[in-house]
Amino acid sequence: MKILVPVKRVIDYNVKPRVKADGSGVDLANVKMSMNPFDEIAVEEAIRLKEAGAAEEVIAVSIGPAKAQETLRTALAMGADRAILVETDAEVEPLAVAKILKAIAEAEEPGIVMLGKQAIDDDSNQTGQMLAALMGRPQGTFASKVAIDGDHVSVTREVDGGLETVKLALPAIVTTDLRLNEPRYASLPNIMKAKKKPLDTKTPDDFGVDVAPRLKTTHVGEPPVRQAGEIVPDVDTLVAKLKSLGVA
Ligand code: AMP
Repeated sequence: MKILVPVKRVIDYNVKPRVKADGSGVDLANVKMSMNPFDEIAVEEAIRLKEAGAAEEVIAVSIGPAKAQETLRTALAMGADRAILVETDAEVEPLAVAKILKAIAEAEEPGIVMLGKQAIDDDSNQTGQMLAALMGRPQGTFASKVAIDGDHVSVTREVDGGLETVKLALPAIVTTDLRLNEPRYASLPNIMKAKKKPLDTKTPDDFGVDVAPRLKTTHVGEPPVRQAGEIVPDVDTLVAKLKSLGVA
């Protein structure tokens, strides 16, 4: 079985995003970019399934600018076998990503497409679900445990008030949640080895997908500045304060 892992290059989670002065988006000039954290978890899970003998090949795919190659090399250094870059400088929305992934999945026929539950740059949380719908495949989203069971996969999901386990017939779509695993660091020898692993470059046109945006961003702004706190001398003052604010 092959596992296809889509990995997105996003602004690093440690970076405090700066909004462009004209309110048209987030300023990405000279900002550290990394693999989307949920996608690192997906790569880790796919490699673990391969190490456990449940999969033969892990293929990482990224849709984005030429620099997304670095993200793919990280996936290869973690242990993916080969990579596909679908190169475009356009901002690709989840529907277009899902259409490209569908075309790749039809060609590669993976048993599982393992995505992150969401990309932390635009928090869409849509691509996995759209891909499952476009392909007519079962989906297990927000996975906190994944277990292959013959020609099925059991996915334990974090839902309100507890855990739910769904059993999906393969091939299936799985999206990863934070507690699924802790991704490994790539070792230096593996980073060197990753440079020699195959990386294919394509374009959205190769898959006949029009990536023109369907949505228009009207404004991006900073969140409101947090108000300063106030230290009160005793509990009575605190209670009076809370009452005056209408919260007690
Ligand atoms: P989203 O629906 O944008 O929140 O993204 C959910 C997941 O879809 C991500 O965690 C990735 O696994 C995958 N994905 C989204 N955009 C891309 C992209 N441009 N390239 C590769 N994978 C992507």
